[in-house]
Amino acid sequence: MSGGSLAGSQSSLAGKVAIVTASTDGIGLAAAQALGQRGAHVVVSSRRQSNVDKAVALLQSEKIQVTATTCNVGNSEDRARLVDMTVEQCGGVDIFVSNAAVNPFFGNIMDSTEAVWDKILDVNVKSAFLMTQLVVPHMEKRGGGSVVFVSSVAGYQPMQALGPYSVSKTALLGLTRALAPELAQSHIRVNCVAPGVIKTPFSQALWQDEDVVDEFKKQLSIKRLFGKPEEIGGVIAFLCSKDASYITGETITVTGGMSCRL
Ligand code: NAP
Repeated sequence: MSGGSLAGSQSSLAGKVAIVTASTDGIGLAAAQALGQRGAHVVVSSRRQSNVDKAVALLQSEKIQVTATTCNVGNSEDRARLVDMTVEQCGGVDIFVSNAAVNPFFGNIMDSTEAVWDKILDVNVKSAFLMTQLVVPHMEKRGGGSVVFVSSVAGYQPMQALGPYSVSKTALLGLTRALAPELAQSHIRVNCVAPGVIKTPFSQALWQDEDVVDEFKKQLSIKRLFGKPEEIGGVIAFLCSKDASYITGETITVTGGMSCRL
């Protein structure tokens, strides 16, 4: 699907350039598809060239305008190269979706090491901020933009055995609130999505464990196991569109009703 049918509508992203990190699988790829379907030129990346190649082939087969490179968001040279390449090849940046995260540790939080915390905070939190710092001057040159962080329902209620990861996701809720007022002066909106359990390789340990599945079933209002990546991609694209022009500093939970908030 192309963005043609949406041209002129509030949800059209025609003419926009969107960087989505960790976008060769799962939620990142679905976000790239949703943005591309609304007419944006998407810039996809992840650590492995083979994954990048596969994602590019898929997006091109869907008639989505795409530029791509490898990028490990934990590496400062990779981050700079991603942004420089985008500006050189696409002419600027309007949208940034910070989707990358790692979880190298399952267990009691008291058993987590300094190395675990360094890795999780570097990739999940620091790189999200440092990428934002790199893209904002380019958004300012275009007169504004939109940033979306991908947090997690675990950011509101830490998941058992996922303590450090959950804390990193809570930090993104704070980062959203800290950046939004400052960047509003430059007409840049900063929002966040907090997915529930979405069926991707990242969450395999959760959806393959029957006890965990039973526990989640009790918490879901929508009795469907589990969410699909495109159900997050669409919300991300909404947040980047004119439909969301009065929304900033906000986090939308997309959880099938699990841990829904007042
Ligand atoms: P996924 O399907 O496993 O995809 C992960 C993607 O990230 C792949 O494209 C992978 O490609 C890339 N990647 C991994 N480490 C990277 C790094 N350091 N730098 C750049 N790219 C990297 O994961 P997902 O479930 O979609 O998760 C995406 C985001 O959603 C994460 O922030 C996660 O915390 C959040 N989330 C997921 C769920 C869920 O249930 N799935 C729930 C809540 C929140 P390479 O291997 O080629 O790098």
